[in-house]
Amino acid sequence: MHVLVLGSGQLARMMSLAGAPLNIRISALDVDTGNIVHPLTQQSLKCELEDAIAQVDVITAEFEHIPHDILEICEKSGKLIPSASAIKAGGDRRVEKNLLEKANVPNAQHCIIETREDFDRAISHLGLPLVLKSALGGYDGKGQWRLTKDDQIETVWPEIAQCLASGNHQAIVAEQFVSFEREVSIVGTRGKDGNIALYPLAENTHTHGVLALSTAIDEPLLQQQAEAIFAATAKELDYVGVLALEFFELDGTLLVNEIAPRVHNSGHWTQQGAETCQFENHLRAVCGLPLGSTSLTRPTSMINILGEDVLPNEILTIEGCHIHWYGKEKRAGRKMGHINVSSDDNNSLKQTLSRVANLLDIDAFPALHQYTSTLSEYGN
Ligand code: ATP
Ligand code: MG
Repeated sequence: MHVLVLGSGQLARMMSLAGAPLNIRISALDVDTGNIVHPLTQQSLKCELEDAIAQVDVITAEFEHIPHDILEICEKSGKLIPSASAIKAGGDRRVEKNLLEKANVPNAQHCIIETREDFDRAISHLGLPLVLKSALGGYDGKGQWRLTKDDQIETVWPEIAQCLASGNHQAIVAEQFVSFEREVSIVGTRGKDGNIALYPLAENTHTHGVLALSTAIDEPLLQQQAEAIFAATAKELDYVGVLALEFFELDGTLLVNEIAPRVHNSGHWTQQGAETCQFENHLRAVCGLPLGSTSLTRPTSMINILGEDVLPNEILTIEGCHIHWYGKEKRAGRKMGHINVSSDDNNSLKQTLSRVANLLDIDAFPALHQYTSTLSEYGN
């Protein structure tokens, strides 16, 4: 099988690595340059998009912000999985909110803002604090504003107005601020036959709006809720492939924060901690192969490497530690790679995470240090 991935970043790279044992070959579209490239080397394959579409068996996407004209061309070929509408739902917060309402899935109350009047109405209707998010183009906490006090209204508005003026059918989704206790996510895969296989929930910690740490958790009541919400959402989208849902946990209840119609950063732990990783399962689903088991094989955490391109080699001497670099040029805060840390049980996982933290700079890995320091405070 030959699969074209729309997007040529780390997710396409990891699909390529996971697909090789199944003889699934990946080419990737670099959306910025329009080149078809090899996902590991980024070398141009000297092929036009139309030719690539004709040559491959399946087309899929590694992110949701794909220009709509490209999605249309791919959909016309009959090879795009998941569908263009499912990918677009993840890339436009208005469509996403509609979908959640239609699937009867709990989520934060919201209003759509296109004008100053809408902005004032959102404040009076939802109250403060508010989180304001650009409908299009947001990721890793970018394109977001917090409005906590009345005296910020007039300083935030010009920034909102500027974002709205950027054209391209932009809007703002204003959401009530959720005082969540935790953030968790579920990653799962749905086959062409409608069968679903779900991974255990991951507990997620963010630094400056970017995922920093994910740990697979075993909490049956929350898992049940998340699985029901996943099934309703995936069915509404008639989804095929890996889908991720991010949640806020509040008093034992899950509210959906957002959906990602693709393999997801909070599922990278599955490379070492699950029977079949999310990348292989996405390829299996879109290629019409049977889905692989999503069972946890070992308790596992994933640490994101943000803005660093060198780590002490000693990390590799720690049993259960695996580094995955993305081969990207260093930039402040950029996702450069991740470390998966596995162990035989939850207690020894915590000890291993502390050993890893001891080798890493606190300024570069604040969430990990914060997490492991809480463990030692409680005598773990
Ligand atoms: P990513 O691409 O990393 O998932 P994103 O840019 O798509 O991020 P969100 O996931 O919507 O944006 O928001 C980023 C983070 O901001 C959330 O993980 C959460 O910590 C916080 N956040 C977002 N919405 C709310 C809200 N309504 N109430 C409280 N916190 C929020
Ligand atoms: Mg998010």
